[in-house]
Amino acid sequence: MKRFVFPGSFDPMTLGHKDIIERVLPMCDELIIGVGQNSEKNYLFSLDERMNFILETHNKEPKIKVLSFQGLTINFCKNVDATAIVRGLRNPADFEFEKSVAQTNRRLSGIETLFLLTAADYSYISSSIVREIIFHKGDYSSLVPEAVKNSR
Ligand code: ADP
Repeated sequence: MKRFVFPGSFDPMTLGHKDIIERVLPMCDELIIGVGQNSEKNYLFSLDERMNFILETHNKEPKIKVLSFQGLTINFCKNVDATAIVRGLRNPADFEFEKSVAQTNRRLSGIETLFLLTAADYSYISSSIVREIIFHKGDYSSLVPEAVKNSR
């Protein structure tokens, strides 16, 4: 049973996240989307909102589960008996950061991280850019799935 975990903040979900989810789905039997909730982070959207955006966007996909988690991703992966972690890579900065996290995670838990390269059309999209546009009351509708549009 290939059970992958795609962890993130999803604050909010973007078309970049949706694309990674759709592309990795055929490679696994179950995809657990782990929505992080860490007390030191200031989220724009509540945990419920962040989880619901994903549930609404993928409500026809039985292989997808959306769960929240706190603390270390590898502990969450162990709790749900995951076989691999999925992450997206957009640029060299992502690579440098993700490399050390993935190597540490493998050293500590033996769990592999699978990387999917961002789609050319979405490589510039990030949740932080969407939050910035929201903050300045701009139109972010072309960067997010239907469920996130008009949410702020
Ligand atoms: P985190 O705070 O854990 O980085 P994010 O919600 O920002 O959480 O991102 C979750 C995952 O989605 C990360 O692996 C990130 O690289 C990936 N991701 C975000 N935006 C994109 C995008 N536009 N294309 C591909 N992957 C993306």
